[in-house]
Amino acid sequence: MGRSLTVSSLCLNRTPTQLADNLNMFLADFHVHSTFSDGRLHLPQVVDLYGRRGFGAIAVTDHLCENASLIGRASVYLGCSLTPATFPLYMEMLRSEAQRAWEQYRMVVLPGFELSKNSVSNRRSAHVLGIGICDFIWADGEISDLTRAIRAQGGIAVAAHPVWTRKFEKQTYFLWDNRLALSDEFDAWEVASGPYIFEEVAKTNLPKLASSDLHAPGQLRSWKTVLDCERHPEAILDAIRNKNVRFQFYEGEGDCHDTRRSTDHSMVSRHFLDPLGDMVRAATA
Ligand SMILES: [Zn+2]
Ligand SMILES: [Zn+2]
Repeated sequence: MGRSLTVSSLCLNRTPTQLADNLNMFLADFHVHSTFSDGRLHLPQVVDLYGRRGFGAIAVTDHLCENASLIGRASVYLGCSLTPATFPLYMEMLRSEAQRAWEQYRMVVLPGFELSKNSVSNRRSAHVLGIGICDFIWADGEISDLTRAIRAQGGIAVAAHPVWTRKFEKQTYFLWDNRLALSDEFDAWEVASGPYIFEEVAKTNLPKLASSDLHAPGQLRSWKTVLDCERHPEAILDAIRNKNVRFQFYEGEGDCHDTRRSTDHSMVSRHFLDPLGDMVRAATA
C-alpha cells in the first residue's frame, strides 16, 4: 500500500492476485442486480463478471420492494423482489460469494439491497440503495426511516437514479423533488447510471457516486466509481462517506486477466487511460 500507481497499470498485471497486490486504485460498481430480483445473472456469475475484469469492489443491490403498493406486491409475486423468505438465502450466498471473490480475485463484495418504492406516479417513486448492510429492512415507511435504518446498521444510503434516467423505463423522482429536505439523509446521490451522466446532479454539491445499475452483462459498459483506498469494506464505505471518489467511463469489453487475448488487453487499457470528462471533474472537485 502507499505506492504510486495508475489505473492503467491494472491491465499490465498478469493474474488477478498480482493485480490486487500491486494496486491501491481500483474500479468499483455499487449498483448491481442478480437473479434474486430482476437481474439476469446468478450471484456467482455476477462475481465472475467483475472479478475477471479486475474490479476491486462491487455492491450487490437486489430490489426489496415495499408491500404497500400494488406494483410492489406484483414485483414480489413475480419474483422480482427480495422477501423475508428469500432474504436469508440471499445473505448466505452473498457471504460465501464474498469469500470466494476475495480468495479468487481480491475483490470486495459488499452486501446490500435497493429499497424500491414503485408508485404509478414517477413523482412518488423512489429507490434507495443500502450498501454494507446484512439485516432485512421493510421498504414501507418514510424515506428517512429507511435511510436511518440503513445507517443504523453501519451502511451507507445512496439515492439511486434520482433524475430522468435517459432510458425508456419507470422513473423515480421523489428523492430529487425533495432533495433539500433529504440531503442529510444520504451518503451519496447517483450522478451517473449506466452510460448516462446526470447533469442535474453533477452541478450540485451533493456527494456523488457513479454505478451501472447492471441487470445484464451488456450493461457493464457504464460509468463507474474509482476508489483509492484499502480493499476492505469499511475503508470503501469510508471513502464514499468522505467523498474520496472519482468517476470513469468503462467500455466493458475484454478481460484484463486473460493474457492470451492481447487485443482485449489493449482495448481495456486504452480505455482506462481516458480522462474523466471536464464537466464531471469540475462538478466533483
Ligand atoms: Zn432502481
Ligand atoms: Zn437497480
